[in-house]
Amino acid sequence: MIENLIEVTYIIATALFILSLKWLSSPTTARRGVWAGELGMALAICGTLLYRGIVDFKLVAIGLVLGAIIGVPLGKVAMTAVPQRTALSHAFGALCVTLVGTSEFYLRAPDIPPLMMAVLSMEVILGSLTFTGSLMAAGKLQELLPQRPITYRGQNLVNLATLALAIGVAVILVMHPDQVKLFPALIFIPLVFGVMLIVPIGGADMPTVISLLNSYAGLSAAAMGFVLNSKLLIIAGALDGSSGFILSVIMSKAMNRSFTNVLFGGFGQIQSAVAGEQEASPVKSATAEEAASILSAASRVAIVPGYGMAVAQAQHKVRELYDALSKRGVDVRFGIHPVAGRMPGHMNVLLAEADIPYDKLLEMDVINGDFPQTDVALIIGANDVTNPAARTDSGSPIYGMPILNVDQARTVMVIKRSMAAGFAGIDNPLYYLDKTLMLFGDAKSFVGSIVRELGGAGMS
Ligand code: NAP
Repeated sequence: MIENLIEVTYIIATALFILSLKWLSSPTTARRGVWAGELGMALAICGTLLYRGIVDFKLVAIGLVLGAIIGVPLGKVAMTAVPQRTALSHAFGALCVTLVGTSEFYLRAPDIPPLMMAVLSMEVILGSLTFTGSLMAAGKLQELLPQRPITYRGQNLVNLATLALAIGVAVILVMHPDQVKLFPALIFIPLVFGVMLIVPIGGADMPTVISLLNSYAGLSAAAMGFVLNSKLLIIAGALDGSSGFILSVIMSKAMNRSFTNVLFGGFGQIQSAVAGEQEASPVKSATAEEAASILSAASRVAIVPGYGMAVAQAQHKVRELYDALSKRGVDVRFGIHPVAGRMPGHMNVLLAEADIPYDKLLEMDVINGDFPQTDVALIIGANDVTNPAARTDSGSPIYGMPILNVDQARTVMVIKRSMAAGFAGIDNPLYYLDKTLMLFGDAKSFVGSIVRELGGAGMS
C-alpha cells in the first residue's frame, strides 16, 4: 500500500518536473514553472520519507534542518550573484552524489556486477569532478579566484591523461570490484581533474561552463538513480543533464563558441592592447537634460540593458522611462542579448519584475534588423554585448561573439559610471564613435534624472 503511494507520488513529481521545464521556457508561465518544480521536489522528498527502509528519522531530520540553514540564506543572495550560487548548488548536489556512490560501493563490494560497477564509477567520477569544478567556477565568478585563464604548454594532454587515469581505475574496479583499496583513487583523481578543467577557462566562458557542469551534475544524479534503482532520480537527472546541455549549446551559440573552445580554449587570455591606446581618445558626454531632449525628439528608441542595470537595480526607473517616452508617442523596444548580465535570462527577469510588457522585449536576432531604422540606441549598463570589436577585431578575446548592433542606430547613448571595461575586461570602440554620447553616472540615478527632465517623475 505504502509502496503504491510512493510510486504515485513519484509519478506526480516526475510530471511536475517536466511541466516545470516547459513552463519555465516562457516569461508568461515562468512563475508557474517555479511553483511546479518546487511542488515536484517537495513531493519527491515526502515520497522518499515514506520509504520503509529508512533506518533513522533523527538523522534525516538533522539533515533537513542543516540543509535549510544553509539553503535559506543561499536563496537570498543578490540576483547578480545567482550564477555563482547556482554553481554552489551543483557542487553540493555533486558532493551528495559522490558520497552516496561511495557508501553504496563500500556497502556492496565485492559483490558488484560489472554493469552496476560501471554506472557507479560514472556516478563517482562525474560527481567528484563536478564538485571541485563547480567550486572553482563559483570562486571565479565571485572573484575569489583570478578570472584570467591559466594555461601552460601541453595542458590539454595532461588533463586528458588525468581523466584517462580515472577511467582506467574505473575499468580495473569493474573487472575486480574486490580491489577496495583502489576506490579512493576513483574519487581523488576526478577531484583534481575538476580543478584542472576550470583553471584554463576564462571568466567570460563561465556561464557556459556552469550550464555544462549542471549537465554533468544531472548525469551523475541519473547514474545514482540506476545504482539506487530509483526511476524518479533517473528521470530528474536526465532532465537536468539534458536541459543543462541544451542551455550550454544555446549559450555557446550566443557567444559564438564551440564546446571544445569553451573547455580547452583558454578564452579571454589575450587582453586587448587597444584598451591602453584608446584611453586617451576623446569621447563626447552629455547631461540628462540633453539626453531627455534627444529621446523625446526620437520616434524609435531601442533600450539595451546590461549588467550595470542589474547592479544599480535600475529596472523600475527604466519602466518609468518607458512610460514617459511611450506617453509621448515614442516607440520603445528592448534589445535582449542572451548573455547580458550575469546569468541566462537575467534581463528578462528584471524587466518582467518591472512589468515591462513581454512583447517589447526583443531577442538579439529580432532587434538587430531594426537598428538601422532606430533613432536612438540607449545602452544602460551594458558593455561587452554591444562591443563592435566582436565583429571587426580578430585579436579581441570576444571576436566572433554575436552582439547587439547598436552602432547601426542613428544616435547611441551609453549610461555607465566611467570608461571602465565590462566582464571581458576590454575596451569598447563604440564609445569613441562620432554618433555616441556618454551619459556618465549610476544607471538608476541617471535614468531617474532623464525621467524627471521628461516630466515623468511622479509615475513610480
Ligand atoms: P558588462 O560587459 O559586464 O558591462 C557592464 C557595464 O556596466 C560595465 O562596463 C560598468 O561600467 C557598467 N556598470 C556597472 N555598474 C553600474 C552602475 N551602477 N550604473 C551604471 N553602469 C554600471 O555587461 P554586459 O554588457 O551585460 O555583458 C555581460 C558580460 O558578462 C558578457 O561578457 C558575458 O559573457 C558575461 N557573463 C554573462 C553571463 C550570463 O549568463 N548572462 C554570466 C556570466 C558572465 P562602469 O563601471 O563604468 O559603470
